[in-house]
Amino acid sequence: MSGFAEVLAAWGEPAYRAEQARQAKLHGAAGWDEVTTLPKALRARLADEVPLWSVVPDARAESRDGTVKWRLRTHDGLAIEAVLIAHARGRRTLCVSSQAGCALGCRFCATGMMGPGRDLTVDEIADQAVLAHHEAGTQAARLANVVFMGMGEPLQNLDAVLGAAEVMHDPRAGVGLSARNIAVSTVGWVPGIARMAEFPLPIRLAVSLHAADDDTRDRIMPVNKRYPVANLLAACRRYSDTTGRRVFIEYLLLDGVNDGPADAKRLAGLLRDGRFHVNLIEYNPTAGPFRGSPPERRERFASALAASGIVASVRRSRGADIAAACGQLATRDAGG
Ligand code: SAH
Ligand code: SF4
Repeated sequence: MSGFAEVLAAWGEPAYRAEQARQAKLHGAAGWDEVTTLPKALRARLADEVPLWSVVPDARAESRDGTVKWRLRTHDGLAIEAVLIAHARGRRTLCVSSQAGCALGCRFCATGMMGPGRDLTVDEIADQAVLAHHEAGTQAARLANVVFMGMGEPLQNLDAVLGAAEVMHDPRAGVGLSARNIAVSTVGWVPGIARMAEFPLPIRLAVSLHAADDDTRDRIMPVNKRYPVANLLAACRRYSDTTGRRVFIEYLLLDGVNDGPADAKRLAGLLRDGRFHVNLIEYNPTAGPFRGSPPERRERFASALAASGIVASVRRSRGADIAAACGQLATRDAGG
């Protein structure tokens, strides 16, 4: 389905009409009848032809920490999720979905347990940011960051992901995010990493490594059989050489699985050339067989990395009381 901009262009309407519709969405217009800047007859014609929004919220939950999670519906009835995380000083980070499910089956991830779903379109991804931009405004806050850490593997849907990043960056489309404040997280889908390096906007790349050796990674992330650790890190180095940017390494700490002193040493050995920044992630409970590392093991792991010259930040879990945290995004009711 083409979007309203294409429909308006096909009808010979001037380009500013689509612009007016986009502005109305940023101000919270839910349907064509609320886009009062357009002539009434045109609104009625549009309402018969094309939706204003490519995704529509049908459930909303707010966490004690201010985080908001939406369940959104596509027009073919799929359910996806987007999460707006509250930070200090009115900053908000939006976590967007790129697919309605995920085919890669990481053992610790609720989306992976759902199984594969369809790729989202540029509009379906970008509309998540338009919605969040409006929501942040109603909270007297500002959408400052977008991370592709919701449902799906962005590098398996890279055309739409990069197209949506362009829309989010474009000041005329209204969201106007700095490219440096857009981050794409990948399970380590190696062919996509080379393509990311060629993309002209300096968006960030984060790689979900989660293990420093193939045996452990094979066990928790089936994709490792296809793209093992050495191949993945070689792709990250090429990316860093081409772009001059560091790669963010995500490392989920799982009790007794990947969080021992030998794991820290191996990880430090892999990353010692300064092209990486490590984020240690707390495990959010899912139906899988894992437990998060207890605080003392987390601290020991971070200290062991530091002793080997690797600086790591610990990313706190947010929105866990509404299952809005990383890896908890799953929508059981996906029917139309
Ligand atoms: N498919 C991409 C992006 C979506 S997942 C990827 O895998 O990177 C976003 C992040 O959440 C990834 O780093 C993923 O490994 C992490 N994650 C998955 N399940 C989690 C869980 N139960 N607790 C904490 N983080 C989790
Ligand atoms: Fe898919 Fe990422 Fe979840 Fe793995 S962690 S199953 S790649 S969404």
